[in-house]
Amino acid sequence: MATNRTFTMIKPDAVSAGNTGAITKMIEEAGFRIVAMKKTLLTPERAGQFYAVHKERPFYKDLCTYMSSGAIVPMILEKENAVEDFRNLIGATDPQKAAPGTIRNLFAKSIEANAIHGSDSDENAAIEGSFFFSQLEQY
Ligand code: UDP
Ligand code: MG
Repeated sequence: MATNRTFTMIKPDAVSAGNTGAITKMIEEAGFRIVAMKKTLLTPERAGQFYAVHKERPFYKDLCTYMSSGAIVPMILEKENAVEDFRNLIGATDPQKAAPGTIRNLFAKSIEANAIHGSDSDENAAIEGSFFFSQLEQY
């Protein structure tokens, strides 16, 4: 089951620009089932926990400030080959390098404010999903 799930969140730039609906539509049209979804806020401390793997990187502090600057929409998604297929749907981290038609190509504002997150492994998908949602076996 876990291998067919990934975790995403629509980031503050895309939520505040009113792109939640358009992005969610692309996700569903690409064949992902929304298992769990909500609109919420991160404190800078919780953003720091979520991105702890990057804490030595120069962009870490700005990233935590940005990720706590407005509402986000975390989701757990289900599809065969979910992690890899979702990374292909969102495109490269830097929107200048994201392939045409990808979510970041269409909606990202910068390498930091890049519209959407996507887990990079099955293991991280499970960890990140549990960061926002509990009792997932009930969904
Ligand atoms: N990020 C940034 N500057 C960089 C690289 C990354 O601000 O030079 C931000 C960006 O929001 C990115 C997040 O940090 O989505 C996590 O970086 P990662 O390398 O994990 O990229 P992702 O997996 O999101 O494509
Ligand atoms: Mg990453």
